[in-house]
Amino acid sequence: MPELKCTVQTCAHNSQMLCELDAIKVGGDTAKNAGETCCDSFVQRGEGSMSNVTNSASDRSEIDCKACDCKYNDNCKCEAGAISVEGSTAKRADGTECATFECEKCY
Ligand code: SF4
Repeated sequence: MPELKCTVQTCAHNSQMLCELDAIKVGGDTAKNAGETCCDSFVQRGEGSMSNVTNSASDRSEIDCKACDCKYNDNCKCEAGAISVEGSTAKRADGTECATFECEKCY
């Protein structure tokens, strides 16, 4: 399970640059670059959303990833040792991205 760092502090699941979820979903089934991927588990932090993040966020998460052209993608599982999710001002999932994405089939 990859190490997960996340800069999306506008997400309710973010706790000090870590994700409190044990498993996240990354989208971008036609992605050819990092900007076309997104964290589908994003939930905007705010009133009414669950923002009572505990300090139990671990630095590893299971990643179910749809970005099948990424060189780390193996049958929708991420095989990278560590990934970085970015989008510090994101208001929606499409403002986030997996910055570790590397296209295997693009040239
Ligand atoms: S590194 Fe590649 S396979 Fe892993 S989550 Fe990011 S886009 Fe998906």
